[in-house]
This record gives sequence, C-alpha cells and structure tokens, in this order.
Amino acid sequence: MQTMQDFPLRVSQIIDHAALYHPERKIISRTVEGPITETTWKHIHKQAKKLSQALISLDVKKGDTIGVMAWNTARHMEVWFGIPGSGAINHTLNPRLFAEQLIYIINHAEDKILMVDLDLVPVIEKIIDSCPKIQTVIILTDRKNIPETSLKNTLCYEDLLREQSGDFEWVSGDEREPCGICYTSGTTGNPKGVTYTHRSNVLHALTVTNPDMLNLSSNDRVMPVVPLFHANGWSVGYSAPLSGSSLVLPGREMTPEALYEMLEKGVTITLAVPTVWLLLLNYLDSNNLELSTLKRVVIGGSACPRAVIEKFQNKYGVQVLHAWGMTEMSPLGTICSFKPEVMSLPSSERVDIQETTGHSPFSVQLQITDDDGKVLAWDGKASGKLWARGAAVVNNYHKEDKLAVDKDGWFDTGDVATIDKNGYMRITDRSKDVIKSGGEWISSIELENAAIAHDKVAEAAALGVAHPKWDERPVIVVVSKEGSKPDPKDIIKKISERVAKWQVPDDVIFMDNIPHTATGKISKMELRNILKDLGYHHPDIKK
Ligand code: AMP
Repeated sequence: MQTMQDFPLRVSQIIDHAALYHPERKIISRTVEGPITETTWKHIHKQAKKLSQALISLDVKKGDTIGVMAWNTARHMEVWFGIPGSGAINHTLNPRLFAEQLIYIINHAEDKILMVDLDLVPVIEKIIDSCPKIQTVIILTDRKNIPETSLKNTLCYEDLLREQSGDFEWVSGDEREPCGICYTSGTTGNPKGVTYTHRSNVLHALTVTNPDMLNLSSNDRVMPVVPLFHANGWSVGYSAPLSGSSLVLPGREMTPEALYEMLEKGVTITLAVPTVWLLLLNYLDSNNLELSTLKRVVIGGSACPRAVIEKFQNKYGVQVLHAWGMTEMSPLGTICSFKPEVMSLPSSERVDIQETTGHSPFSVQLQITDDDGKVLAWDGKASGKLWARGAAVVNNYHKEDKLAVDKDGWFDTGDVATIDKNGYMRITDRSKDVIKSGGEWISSIELENAAIAHDKVAEAAALGVAHPKWDERPVIVVVSKEGSKPDPKDIIKKISERVAKWQVPDDVIFMDNIPHTATGKISKMELRNILKDLGYHHPDIKK
C-alpha cells in the first residue's frame, strides 16, 4: 500500500502555484518593441496555457523540441511554461553563437518549431536554409510589429494566442520526462546538449530558493540579467514563480544605464556575470547614483573579482553572493552565503571567504581528487579535479552513447578546486587552463583577480606560455581601463602582493580586447591563437 501520494514534480505545477497563490505579483518587463510593461503571474499562466494549446494545434507532440531565441521578457516567461505544458521540450538558443554552431544545435536537437524575438529574425533568416526540420517560425510579437522577413511559414505569436481559449489541462506525464535542453558552450568539439527533466528542474528550483542559497520569497523582486538562454537561466524562470517572487525583466537593453533604470523598479535581488557588474559599478560611480532597493547580487559564471565584492558591499550596502555552477548542473552548484563559522569572522576575512564560490545545498555533492583519482581532504589547500553529483546534475549528454559520469555517478566538472573544512569551494582553474610551472600548478584565476585589483586594469587573462626550463611560465594579458595607461611594473607589483614570488607572471601583454565566448567567458583558446598569430613567445626565448 502506498502510504503517501505521488505528486509528479512537473514544471507546470510551478506556474500553477504562482498563479494560485501569487496571482497579482508584478512582472515588469522591458519589451523588445520598446515600452516597459507590467503583467502578473496570473496572466502569464493564462498565456502559457494558450501557447500550449496553440502548439498542440500545430501538431506538436510530447517530446518534440522547440527552439527559442529570446531575451528576458514576460513573453519569454509565457513560452518558458507554455512549451513544457504542451509536453514539448524548450530548447534555449543563444543568439550570440556563430551561425555554424546554431545550425549544429538546432539540427542536433531536431527543433521542429522556432520561436524568436522580432529583432532576432535576421539571425534565423541567415541559417534557416540549413535547418530542414524547422516547419514553422513563430515571431514573438503582435501583428503591428511583425517585421518584414524572407522567412516562410511564419506565425505571429499574439495572433496565435488570441485564437485559443486557454481552457486547457497541461499535458501530464512522468516527472522524468524532458522539459528543456541547453547546449554547453564547449571550447573544443561540438556543443553538447544537456536535457533537463521536469523533476530535475523542480528539485533544483526548490533547492536554490532556500535561505542559504538565493533566499527567495514572495517579498522579493528578482531581476535576472543573466539571459534565460544561458545555463538554464540560472533557474530563475523556475525559482522565482516557485517562491512567488515578483520579476523585473531587462529585455535586450544591457547598457548600465538601462539596467540601472530597471534595478530601480524595486529589485531586491539580481543575477549576472562579473563583467555586467564591473560596468554597472563604474556607471554608478561616475554618475553618483545609489541602489535604493537592491539587497543581494548573485555573481557567477566566472570568478568574481574582490574589488566588485567590496564595492557592492561597502559602498552600496548590497550583499554579494558569489556562485558557481555549470549548464550540466542546472546550473547552481554552490553559493557563498555565510554559515555561522563565517559570520563570526572579522569583515575583511569574510571577504576572503567570499572569493570562494561557497558551499553546496542539499542535493549537490562535491569531491576533489588528485591525478591518481585519490579523494583529497577538505583543508582549503589541497587542490584537485572537481567532481559533482546530485539530483539536477547531468548523467548523459543528448544523443551520446557514453555516460557523462563515472561508475559511481560522479561527473567531472573540468574545474580544479580546493574545498575548506566548512565546505567552501574555491575554483582555481579550468583543468585545461592551469599553468604548470616546474611541476607546480599556478592558478590563472588567482593571477587575474590580483591583476584586476589594479585600479587601471579593466580585464585580465593569465596564460601559461612555453618555457625552456620551467615547461610553462605565467604571463598576463591586460586590457587597460579607458583613457589610462598602467605601468606594467605596477601591475606586477600589485600581483606580487597577492601570490608567491614564483607564481608572479613574467610578462604583461597589453591588448585592446580580450576575446570572449558566446556566454561572456574569457576564451583562452582564442587568446592563445591570437598570441600564436602574433608570434609571441616567452621573453626568455631568444629569437
Ligand atoms: P557554463 O556551463 O557555460 O555556465 O560554464 C561553467 C563553467 O564556468 C564552470 O565549469 C567554471 O569553469 C566556470 N564558472 C562558473 N562560475 C564560476 C565562478 N564563480 N568562478 C570561476 N569559474 C566559474
């Protein structure tokens, strides 16, 4: 006899909950058409139902995949729930990917329909002929704003929804059915698809809302600057409605000025990669502005510089939550909130801890191992390969025969890390970016963070370059802040304050820009190619 009920963990339950218990919570959105609009969870719920209905009328079947290329707007939230509600899979598409990558992932995922913001129609026009499985393109706007396009078989989103009653039961099924797919921005080889299930997304959202993680509640107003198409949108599309939070959605306008305008609409917590915050902080400083409602800022995707943590906390009174995660982990794996052991430290030591990416919530397990696979101690010193497993961690990439995990279910994150006695994890590198000098490892992240602490440095990337004696030696590529010319000796001095003498880079290379991947991370691979093309070599190597 089954003693307790089965309650299938389907994402549709999340939007049902938001509409029932938090119907009037505001969703403020900068539309792609321009104006800032307001709607509610109740309305998004109704629209999502109409979309599910419409998709079924377009012959969408359970398990079909629908590609979505859209900015963070209220309409995207309708789509976020309308697709899985119809039994289909929401395939998030990053418009910044190269055409070949987009074509690859659309074909690999076998997208049947595309849903696309009106300004991104030209991106689709360029690739559509190479995507034979696409039957229809739904343009996410109303009739009045439909752009001229060479695409055939297009539909207008608002017209499509107007034809539906919204009187519809979500397509039901097992909680282990797929509901979303996101491809990783692999630096080598083809992108790999991570297929989230209803269950993994619900469990992940339940996990990350808890107080030691995002601490979300119905009193919060969340602004995801991180696009919904990056790494499962950092779960905000699920965790905000699950906790009844209100939302502010910035659309496609990513200038500090536009973001500031949206932050001042009562936002209490916001999430993005460090570069967004570096730009915003500069803007606030130069215009003497304050953040009147913001309480917490979640920073992840790449290492958060100490200066950003200090500026947010000391000048603007906003708590930084440094986070680590991966597309393969749905994506949040750790967040740096304060356990009592950390809370009791003096504030400068707390900032030391905030340079780590924090600890895992229930349902995420981590371990670090040495090159021989021996599990390393959590002493904050031993650094090794970082492995993860849990309820929302990948098991198998889309259509790959080989499992993505070892025999005990551990997934190799490709990161190198230390973990301290309180479980705070510090990423020291991607395993392929570690600088190996004389048999010792040097953390490129540590060098970059030290360089960026120099007030004239805008961005920095540390690399290992070939050296006749030491195998590799570190050098640092630097982009100066606009209008400034830092002295390379000062940069080296600044780094020397933070790392051991033998770890200090041997050379400073100035560049106008550092190349980034489509998700905004420094592309070390491209940077290495640039240096190679320039014929760069370590200063000790004579020509
Ligand atoms: P993605 O799947 O594109 O989000 O990339 C995941 C990778 O980003 C991780 O494996 C890390 O290498 C890196 N990453 C994410 N968050 C951080 C962080 N807070 N510090 C350093 N690296 C990070």
